[in-house]
Amino acid sequence: MTPICVVDTETDGLHQGRRIWEVAMIRRDDEGERERSFFVGLDMRYSDLKGLEIGRFFDRHPSGRKVSGKDPLPGLPPLCKHDAAREIMQFTFGAQLVGAVPSFDAEGLAGLLRSEGYLPAWKHRLRCVETLTSGFLRREVGGLRDCAEALGLDFPQDVQHTALGDARMALQIWDAVMTDGAQ
Ligand SMILES: [Mg+2]
Repeated sequence: MTPICVVDTETDGLHQGRRIWEVAMIRRDDEGERERSFFVGLDMRYSDLKGLEIGRFFDRHPSGRKVSGKDPLPGLPPLCKHDAAREIMQFTFGAQLVGAVPSFDAEGLAGLLRSEGYLPAWKHRLRCVETLTSGFLRREVGGLRDCAEALGLDFPQDVQHTALGDARMALQIWDAVMTDGAQ
């Protein structure tokens, strides 16, 4: 099988040069399925405040909690950009990326990788679960939550806009339209 890797990133906005501060990847290949997610250290000087708030940066990211006066949460510290880039290249190597508008994530990930001396090595055809859902249901559907609801999948509010929550949802949608749908 061609390995697939579901990706989702939380970023500091939609602008050109946006930065990634959280990454989740779920890879499925001949060896099975595994998940990896982590925070990435963020230089906030060019960040969009509203963009950061979408993923609850100030509640969830260790640096965000610190600058907003909150106590630290248990968990690993953010990876530096270099370590994050290396892990992303390894984890996505040779895989077909799947996600909700994965071109958005792939663009940011590619920028992160190249800025740290690594190279995007995923397959060049990306698979968008929102588009797949539209095809499956033969109508325009909308974003990740709309797709989940249209397919009868539960998508708890508190995991939406976390990288791992969104990636897991995207994988559930993938399975619903690609696996169940083929039976
Ligand atoms: Mg997300």
